[in-house]
Amino acid sequence: MKMSKLLMPTLREVPSEAEITSHRLMLRAGMIRKLAAGIYSYLPLGLRSLHKIEAIVREEMDKAGAQELLMSALLPAEAYQASGRWEVFGPSMFKLKDRNDRDFCLGPTHEELFTQTVIDNVKSYKEYPMTLYQIQTKYRDEGRPRFGVMRSREFIMKDAYSFDTSREGLDKSYQAMYEAYCRIFTRLGLDFTIVDADSGAMGGSGSQEFMVKSPVGEDGIAYCDACGYAANYEKCECIVSEKPQIEGDFEMEKIHTPKAHTIEELVDFLGMESYNFAKTIIYKADDKYIAAMVRGDREINEVKLKNLVGCTDDLELAEPHIVRELTNAEVGFAGPIGLDIPVYVDKEVTFMKNFVVGANETDMHYKNVNLGRDFEADHIADIRIVEEGDVCPKCGQPIKTAQGIEVGHIFKLGTKYSDALGLKYLDENGKSQTVIMGCYGIGVTRCIAGVIEQNYDENGIVWPVSCAPYEALVLAANYKNEEQTKAAEQIYNKLKESGIDVLIDDRSERTGVKFKDADLIGIPVRITAGKKISEGIVEYKERRNGEVIEMSVDEAVEKVIKFIKDNK
Ligand code: ATP
Ligand code: MG
Repeated sequence: MKMSKLLMPTLREVPSEAEITSHRLMLRAGMIRKLAAGIYSYLPLGLRSLHKIEAIVREEMDKAGAQELLMSALLPAEAYQASGRWEVFGPSMFKLKDRNDRDFCLGPTHEELFTQTVIDNVKSYKEYPMTLYQIQTKYRDEGRPRFGVMRSREFIMKDAYSFDTSREGLDKSYQAMYEAYCRIFTRLGLDFTIVDADSGAMGGSGSQEFMVKSPVGEDGIAYCDACGYAANYEKCECIVSEKPQIEGDFEMEKIHTPKAHTIEELVDFLGMESYNFAKTIIYKADDKYIAAMVRGDREINEVKLKNLVGCTDDLELAEPHIVRELTNAEVGFAGPIGLDIPVYVDKEVTFMKNFVVGANETDMHYKNVNLGRDFEADHIADIRIVEEGDVCPKCGQPIKTAQGIEVGHIFKLGTKYSDALGLKYLDENGKSQTVIMGCYGIGVTRCIAGVIEQNYDENGIVWPVSCAPYEALVLAANYKNEEQTKAAEQIYNKLKESGIDVLIDDRSERTGVKFKDADLIGIPVRITAGKKISEGIVEYKERRNGEVIEMSVDEAVEKVIKFIKDNK
């Protein structure tokens, strides 16, 4: 491809709206452009990378025995109503009506439709096991679309669904997808961690997420180097770690704590440790309110709490006026004593003695509070966020934590959707049985951002060969020098004939601009025909290590071909 003909609107300036590197670089390299919040167009470079990732996904899914099909993104409501997810998705589902007032949605994920397709088209038990997949556009009206294609409202997902007649069959289908995912993410050059995950709204019995470790990841992951345990924060079981308590038999006492709203302010004011406090947070859970309590040095995991409460929408912090109404106090003084809503208590609190809680009265707290004596918990469970240094639930060694980008997710669904929609088969004895399902997603567009987050430097993107928009770049340092431009053209043609996906920078631009753009768009390897072309010498440079090596034209061409082959 000739760069002079390529729609590649690179930017020197960093667009202010972009908060993270991959988003900034995708905009700067002219890969994407924004249409609306969380909605993007892919320009040629972006689309090429996207197609390459799709091709890898497709190849590995096919190799794993899955069959590709393609469904509409515009879906009738009925199947989602039957599964209950028409309501469960809440505001994140794009809903619309056709001219006859019939309900439709833009598909956020397709469990229901694949189940229905199998109901309609598979007649005999002999056709199972079967895994079907598609690479298709999904729609979710995310509460906070951000980070470019990382969390967008329209995105491409590879979604696969397995159908089996036994639990053992499901285990096998799941394992095949697990292995395919490992191959896909390895080929994309991603450094990933597989974690045990919460099954959440999807239901089902087991699930794992493929996480790309990155400081900009929105998911917390806990892992143990000693035994290999890894789980996301929602799933990680927190082991109680006791802290020194105030021993003795003391009466509960109301104390004046003016303007001490936060744990830090209380620690300063009372001269106690944060773990001698228990904080009470009030949440809105669907149309009810609840209180949750953790030790003062801990944080609440809202997904664990949501699962425990069993609400549909995500928990939201209660608004200040509600807190005032429920506690008769300013925000910051809530406590469990005399509070008229269910109180969910973290199990670590049960090991606390003579601690401090809010008194539901502005500027007041209670001290010497004991659970069971001074108040009762409505529920006691693990509702806190795991922390670095906590004890590994599997082997007891210290846990480490990191942020991760979820690029893939695999679930053992069981019979949730087959029960809801009636996917049954007649076994060899003519008896009706329920089909057992699994589902498997990859965020294809999110992968592009994930790859960039792990592969960039101060000059731009450093693509792995597998998903680079072009594999190699050729340029003449001085476009006015005929010898250089001719040589560049010849090298370009040779590489093209050898099947290399090659780009030539034939623009009438200064050398500096060309080099800057080359680094920004991150093509893995490049050849520059410069001054020494009269001696038959060119410059060879791999984007990743940046080293410029002089060699003959033939050598450089051979080296590029070998480099691409070795790194594909
Ligand atoms: P998240 O927790 O990040 O919102 P999810 O768990 O809701 O994602 P799944 O339903 O498991 O997502 O979807 C499968 C895959 O689709 C995810 O692993 C992720 O890679 C991708 N994905 C989900 N939501 C988005 C989005 N808004 N933008 C881009 N990719 C997404
Ligand atoms: Mg997920």
